[in-house]
Amino acid sequence: MTGLVLNVDAAPWRHHLQQTAETTAGLVPVAKGNGYGFGLGRLATEAADLGVATIAVGTAGEVAAVRDRFDGEIVVLQPWRPGDAVAEELLDDPRVITTVSRTEDLAAVAERGAGPVLVEVLTSMKRHGLTPAEVAAIAPLLDRVDFRGWTIHLPLLETGRYAEALEHAGRVRGVRPAPLWFSHLPWPEATAIAKEVGADESDVRLRMGTQLWLGAPETLHPTATVIDVHKVSKGERVGYRHRKASANGWVVVLAGGTAHGLAMEAPSSVSSMRQRAITAATGALATFGRAMSPYTLDGAKRWFVEPPHMQSSLVFLPASATPPAVGDRVPVELRLTTVTVDEVALN
Ligand SMILES: *Cc1c(COP(=O)(O)O)cnc(C)c1O
Repeated sequence: MTGLVLNVDAAPWRHHLQQTAETTAGLVPVAKGNGYGFGLGRLATEAADLGVATIAVGTAGEVAAVRDRFDGEIVVLQPWRPGDAVAEELLDDPRVITTVSRTEDLAAVAERGAGPVLVEVLTSMKRHGLTPAEVAAIAPLLDRVDFRGWTIHLPLLETGRYAEALEHAGRVRGVRPAPLWFSHLPWPEATAIAKEVGADESDVRLRMGTQLWLGAPETLHPTATVIDVHKVSKGERVGYRHRKASANGWVVVLAGGTAHGLAMEAPSSVSSMRQRAITAATGALATFGRAMSPYTLDGAKRWFVEPPHMQSSLVFLPASATPPAVGDRVPVELRLTTVTVDEVALN
């Protein structure tokens, strides 16, 4: 286990997954993109162990990464469009539920006599979906497909969320009483809305990614391997850009770089006023650029010497600190929805 590693306390992490599944009867785990840091295959396996009936992937291309590890149904969240060869082929796969967000696409899908279909309505997010007028006119097309329900993808804001979800739910159920697939809504709210529009709890699905996979952050411990440590003196030039060290200390070379999607700034805290004040006071800004690294060395976050390289990063550690040894693994704060780790270690 070297490089950028996502260490997972497997038992408590899985306990959180199970608890979430138990309290969310209509849970549809979302496994898309970088697999929330875990990878799509791992998430498909965990979803299978949870015993859920359905999972969701982001794109048609991602179906291949989960289909051998999960034998239930697979929703493709990104709406179907003509001309996507993979998405067109998946119309013939009875395990894949296609999301459709335009009337003409539903007509095209119906023409092919395709597999299961969800129809997305346009919410205030303005991403994809049918307008209220289009929803009102869609019924004849629904008869020609294996219609599985309405998808309502809400913005993350809490204000107005319930009212908006209720409005959409009422409208679509008026056209066709089919299951309601929500996102970004607490389960009690989703079921309350269902009740208000005359639907059953068993008609509600809730797609969930972040809150499920990353909802127990105390069980996740990303680490980076120390690749090298170099003692430097004040004024010595270091890095690609030959900047001068402002003080005596060490340049620590750590696993993790742009190829991993490592951010220039730590995901949290960097932008706080306190952090900025510290930056200014220590002169780190003038010497080493302005970016706080996500690495913790000797108990504190440390400044980047310069922007991350492809697979490693240079971080400055002042002489007052205790340097790590080559091979040590140090904590690193990762934005797990954007980073690709070298390894996921379930302990
Ligand atoms: C990505 C996505 C989700 C999951 O989002 P999280 O914030 O990670 O839970 C849910 N629904 C849709 C339609 C999505 O595209």
